[in-house]
Amino acid sequence: MTTTVSRETAAFAGALDVIAQVEPRVAAAIGQELTDQRESLKLIASENYASPAVLLAMGNWFSDKYAEGTPGRRFYAACQNVDTVERLAAEHARELFGADHAYVQPHSGIDANLVAFWSILAHRVESPVLAEAGVKNVDALSEADWARLRRALGDQRMLGMSLDAGGHLTHGFRPNISGKMFEQASYGTDPETGLIDYAAVRAQAREFRPLVLVAGFSAYPRRVDFAAMREIADEVGATLLVDMAHFAGLVAGKVLTGDFDPVPHADVVTTTTHKSLRGPRGGMVLCTEEYAPEVDRGCPMVLGGPLPHVMAAKAVALAEARRPEFAGYAQQIVANARALADGLLRRGARLVTGGTDNHLVLADVSSFGLTGRQAEAALLDAGLVTNRNSVPADPNGPWYTSGIRLGTPALTTRGLGEAELAEVGELFVDVLTATQPDGDSKMRYRLDPAVAERVRARAAELVGAHPLYPEIDLSGR
Ligand code: PLP
Repeated sequence: MTTTVSRETAAFAGALDVIAQVEPRVAAAIGQELTDQRESLKLIASENYASPAVLLAMGNWFSDKYAEGTPGRRFYAACQNVDTVERLAAEHARELFGADHAYVQPHSGIDANLVAFWSILAHRVESPVLAEAGVKNVDALSEADWARLRRALGDQRMLGMSLDAGGHLTHGFRPNISGKMFEQASYGTDPETGLIDYAAVRAQAREFRPLVLVAGFSAYPRRVDFAAMREIADEVGATLLVDMAHFAGLVAGKVLTGDFDPVPHADVVTTTTHKSLRGPRGGMVLCTEEYAPEVDRGCPMVLGGPLPHVMAAKAVALAEARRPEFAGYAQQIVANARALADGLLRRGARLVTGGTDNHLVLADVSSFGLTGRQAEAALLDAGLVTNRNSVPADPNGPWYTSGIRLGTPALTTRGLGEAELAEVGELFVDVLTATQPDGDSKMRYRLDPAVAERVRARAAELVGAHPLYPEIDLSGR
């Protein structure tokens, strides 16, 4: 009897066999990771599952190439095939997002932001100094002008969203290099509604006069009005940088359009490619023609040599995102997040902003008498994989937190629908209602084992009904 083995099974099983010949423990860990991912009900808002085509595009000899420079202008020889994939990735990105220019080399979201910051500084601070001195590049500056430029580069301001309102560490906060480079101020959200108060941002920007106004977030469950942010930036002469790392898939899928689409409004847009966009782990910068020359100097300005294998995978993922079915996927992410919020609210959970209109929900778990840390651990015991997150004006700080962030991109990729997400919301409340803090600890907790058992079993059924990578069967290895 002959059995048909799918191409995907053959590819991944073959790859694992080759790896196992050198270091079987690595092959085993890769196989185990698939098993674990298949069995887990993943609600982490920043994670997803890339397609087999995206995964396979990363595992090859492109990894062996150095390719500093840009397509057609490399500092290394024999980059013709890297040029092909980098051009394709950039072309797909421009077409998909309607951007003037795309730079697909950043290795991650943080790196994309670093490219953006230094491109903006180069364009707005360095270029005028070069022009004034009548020279073409920094090497031609006098020692005195160079010293003046270095001081000016370190004397600029950034205004971004505060961390507890959902902003990201790279938006000017001290632990990240952005906070060491820029004098920073941050805008929060309205204490009553939890929403961005654009009039307050405007007033703050007028007062603070930032060089860079940053919009974008990791944990804000609503849409952002980028047209309003553009007006504010124009009023104070700031460059508008939007970090769409979290919601790039919703922009690609045309769920966020008009005032809520950052690309027509921002000077520079940064993103990761592995979250809602469902590509390989990596980053990307989109920008207007005005900023393109500096953005293209990302490597070697702040980046190491490009990763051609990841650029190949970006090209594949962006091609996938240009297919009509990706818009359906993006719409379903949001419908699922709304259903999840409804399930939570039905059982009395407290949600920051009272709901969602994007891919994530932020639950304030202090209403259960728990810290985010306790809730995250109890949920994991019951088979729900989430992550803790600060809520606005969080009394528990960024380590213990008072919130749990939930996202739907990954479960939507698996094919779960609204009824199932609403049920997940109810299971979440069941677990936290059955969890008590253990003494005064912000970490220890007691979870009713019967509830944990019941929810774990139901979570397993929910994911079991939607197999991850059904085309890959490694059971015969
Ligand atoms: N920007 C935002 C808004 C993010 O949420 C993240 C990651 O969570 C990043 C940047 C950093 O991305 P990476 O981890 O790929 O460097």
